Amino acid sequence: MDFSFSEEQKLLRDSVRKLMDRHAPADYVARLDREQAYPYALYDAWVEAGLLGLPFPESAGGLGGSVVDMAIVAEEISYTSADFFMAFAGGVFCGLNIVRKGTPEQVERFIPKLLAGDIRMAISISEPDAGSDIGAMRTLAVHGDRGYIVNGQKVWATGAGARNVLLNVYLKTDPKASVPDGMSLFLIDNDAPGLECRKLDMLGRRCTGTYELNFQDVAVDADRLVGGENQGWACVMSGLQVERITSAAGNCGAARAVVDMAIAYAKERKQFGRPIGANQAVAHMLADMQTKVEAARALMWQAASKVAAGEDALRDITMAKLFSSETYVEVANLGMQILGAYGYSMEFAMQRHFRDSRSATIAAGTSQIQRNLLANLMGLKLSA
Ligand SMILES: Cc1cc2nc3c(=O)[nH]c(=O)nc-3n(C[C@H](O)[C@H](O)[C@H](O)COP(=O)(O)OP(=O)(O)OC[C@H]3O[C@@H](n4cnc5c(N)ncnc54)[C@H](O)[C@@H]3O)c2cc1C
Repeated sequence: MDFSFSEEQKLLRDSVRKLMDRHAPADYVARLDREQAYPYALYDAWVEAGLLGLPFPESAGGLGGSVVDMAIVAEEISYTSADFFMAFAGGVFCGLNIVRKGTPEQVERFIPKLLAGDIRMAISISEPDAGSDIGAMRTLAVHGDRGYIVNGQKVWATGAGARNVLLNVYLKTDPKASVPDGMSLFLIDNDAPGLECRKLDMLGRRCTGTYELNFQDVAVDADRLVGGENQGWACVMSGLQVERITSAAGNCGAARAVVDMAIAYAKERKQFGRPIGANQAVAHMLADMQTKVEAARALMWQAASKVAAGEDALRDITMAKLFSSETYVEVANLGMQILGAYGYSMEFAMQRHFRDSRSATIAAGTSQIQRNLLANLMGLKLSA
């Protein structure tokens, strides 16, 4: 399989790299992480460069880019910060779902605003008692005067509390049906009356932020329902392939940054009169780290190329998501070892990777759930 980039894709990669270096230098990344502040200025730069519109079809005002283009952007943004990538990706994933599943009026009403940076989007599925098991979802939308009334609680919604966020919230609409049949997707403003949005104190990904949402009699107009009542499962599934492959690309980009940082440090840091990288124990760690990252990238590009070619790539995507997330965790851990106390210091970037990487094997489907899925695809029947 050929995963070589076209000239346009090389240009795209180089221009995103330049944009990130210009608008998100190391001191900007460190300051926002310290202040737990959303990267508004960087987001504006993405909008200005047209990056948000890249994967959207031309009919929706986008540039008609492929999944491979999206993966290139994901790798380069995450090379700077996996946390910042979530600010980018949340809106893109949700917007693409609206293009696929929304009405022409919804596309016309919301997508130009998203691509112009006037609104952002964030996805909210998880609840306190419904994580891997979406079926345990309880937050309910019932019919009301203007459309629906929502009551309940959601958790872990990435980027939900930033300015002007249109939440893409999955809610139970048929309490008697199991989730594949009784769930719907709604678009709800994050400042809607009755909705409280609370930023949670998390280990990593502190800029885009992770939020709890409390809904108390929140009124939602009927025209905010996407894809039809009880059709939420189809909406979730329609975006899953692109979301997981792009998450995998993000993990690869961030893991690549860790390896580059550790190699540079091992060449420069001298102990016992020689660079620490001259010790075989350190050099072998670096060799293993680079090998793992390149293996993760190969899986990821293979999966992205298959999706772009319209092939069924569920197995490849699942392996890419699993392996890339575990690789990011592993190299960040070893990277910290190689940097010694400097790696453990809040003044160096390695600790941010150590913290941010830990969410990679939990968010967007845990490693165990990816393994379950792979086992099922191999024909192994796991007990429930
Ligand atoms: C940083 C971050 C950002 C997030 N962003 C979002 C977001 O934007 N929107 C959103 O809706 N959610 C988001 N989530 C939530 C995420 O989707 C859930 O954390 C994830 O689905 C796992 O659910 P849980 O944390 O409740 O763990 P649980 O499902 O309770 O799992 C706990 C442990 O048990 C294991 N386990 C559970 N079931 C099985 C099984 N059947 N077989 C084997 N092992 C199993 C899991 O793998 C895990 O190790 C985010 C989470 C994090 C950490």
